[in-house]
Formats: sequence, C-alpha cells, structure tokens
Amino acid sequence: MTEATQDTSFDYTLDERQRSMLDAMGIKMWLPEPEAEAAPQVAAQAPLQAVSTENSEQKQPIAGMNTAQPAIEKIAPISSTAVPMPASIALAPRPSGIEQMDWPTLQSTVSGCQACSLCASRKNTVFGVGQAPADNTQTPQVDWLIIGEAPGENEDIQGEPFVGQAGKLLDNMLAAMKLGINGAGLTRSQGVYIANVLKCRPPANRNPSLEEVAMCEPYLARQIELLRPKIILAMGKFAILSLTGSNDPVGKLRGRVHTLKHASYQAPVIVTYHPAYLLRNLPDKAKAWADLLLAMQTYRELQAGDSSAV
Ligand code: SF4
Repeated sequence: MTEATQDTSFDYTLDERQRSMLDAMGIKMWLPEPEAEAAPQVAAQAPLQAVSTENSEQKQPIAGMNTAQPAIEKIAPISSTAVPMPASIALAPRPSGIEQMDWPTLQSTVSGCQACSLCASRKNTVFGVGQAPADNTQTPQVDWLIIGEAPGENEDIQGEPFVGQAGKLLDNMLAAMKLGINGAGLTRSQGVYIANVLKCRPPANRNPSLEEVAMCEPYLARQIELLRPKIILAMGKFAILSLTGSNDPVGKLRGRVHTLKHASYQAPVIVTYHPAYLLRNLPDKAKAWADLLLAMQTYRELQAGDSSAV
C-alpha cells in the first residue's frame, strides 16, 4: 500500500446531484450549518490504508433534519455462550472442501447445511442476491459486495436478504450511489451482490452466538473469494466483526477504510450502520450518508488506480 497526502475532507456544500442522492436515501433536508464540524474524514492515505479518525461524536451536519440528540447506538453484547440445541434436531458436520467449491456447489451446500442449531428453525437458507452471473463459472461478477448480519423474519420466508422496510432503505442507499452507467444509481441486480454473515435466521431475531458466526463464516469467506469484489460495505455489528475482526461499536469504527481480515483475498471494507438500525435511529442516516460518500470515494480511487495501471 502506498501513502498519499491529499486532504480529502468532505465539503458539505451540496450540489443538485448530492441533493438528489440524499432524497433517494429519504433525507429531505440538507442545509449546511456554518458552525458544523467536518464529517468523518475520508482516509487521507491510499485507499486501502486504514486511518483512524476516532471522531464519532461530530456534530450533525444536516440542519433541520432532527434537533434531538442522535440516538445512542444500542449494541447487545455478543454472546459467547453456546445456544442450547433443540432436542429433536440432529446436527451434521459442516461439509469439508468449502474453500474449493464453485458457486453453484457452495449455494447447494448452504441450502442443506445442518452445522449449527439455526437449521432447526429456519424456513429457508438465505445465500444472497445480486447481479446474475454472466459466464460459465456461474459466479456473479460484481464490484460491490454488501454484507449484512443475519436473515430476519421476512428474509427467512422469502430466502432473500434485505427485504421489507430495511431492504427498501438499502435499495434507496444503493440508488443514491450514482456510480452506474450515465450516472445511474446502483441496484441490487447491477454490479452488486448482497449477502449476510449468517445464512439462517436466529430464532426471534436474537443475536447469533460467536459459535454460530464462526460455523457459518467459511461460506461467506468462499463467497468473497469467488466474487472478488472491489469494495465491501459491512452493515452492522456482526458483519463488521466477521469482516474486520473488530468487536468495537459501529460508531467507533466508521469514517475510515478497513482491510478485510480474510487472508486469501484483500479488499477495502467500509463499515456503516445496518438499515434496520437506521430505521429506528433516523438521525444516523446522515452518518450513513457520510459512509456512502467514503465508500464511493474509495471506489473511485480504486478505479483511477486500475486505469492508470493499464
Ligand atoms: S447458519 Fe450457517 S452454519 Fe448454521 S445451519 Fe445455517 S448455513 Fe449452516
């Protein structure tokens, strides 16, 4: 990684395009406050260089959106205690050779997995959704990978991640990222793949245990190896834990570029709040917006690096 020195602090003066992006995220007011402090700084180093800002208590840059104090992020402690296994469920060892599987084999393996207790209560496994594969490897070819935490009730029923209100917000966030052809926003079927760390729903949407996360992680690791995304957006506590290894709160980790912890493939990881959290904590949409700006800037720098290397 090389270090760069340019100042990449955000300018919160908005042009028409940025206003439309905010509108797509559901943020209706966007008036700069003269006294507002800078938003979280983009990594002032090279795109993959992690730069700590540790400045998660900055003033809300959006005037008129909400004058109340931003909600404190509520994060339940991660349980390291094994979850009791229903007596009637027989587990089967997680299949071997995941690191060699192709996309279709991986998908079918997940659909039959009984390696942890979450298989007992699931209706469907939730492998992921995104751009259709275009070649005979049957692996989607995407630049963006969005990782959430675990399926909820609707996802479990439909077998697809990010459906319902949280899914709509994610779609709006993607639409606000004007990186497509002719400045079009991203969509879940174009240049993007969306998955969760956990492929099965924890009962009653409880937090997964560390053992369940660890048991399911090889599937996500193989998805990443096959997809080879240019950039990863980690949404929520467990996605961040799985991708970066950090157990710190989202608010402490956001605002900088992280590096994927998996040894076999490297990609920048931008962390942000889970859309379900944003639905409950509307003022933090502005922080998510700043995170998307960081992600887009990082992606553009990667693209610029790619083109200059040709
Ligand atoms: S959560 Fe993952 S490890 Fe557990 S049963 Fe589902 S696919 Fe298998």
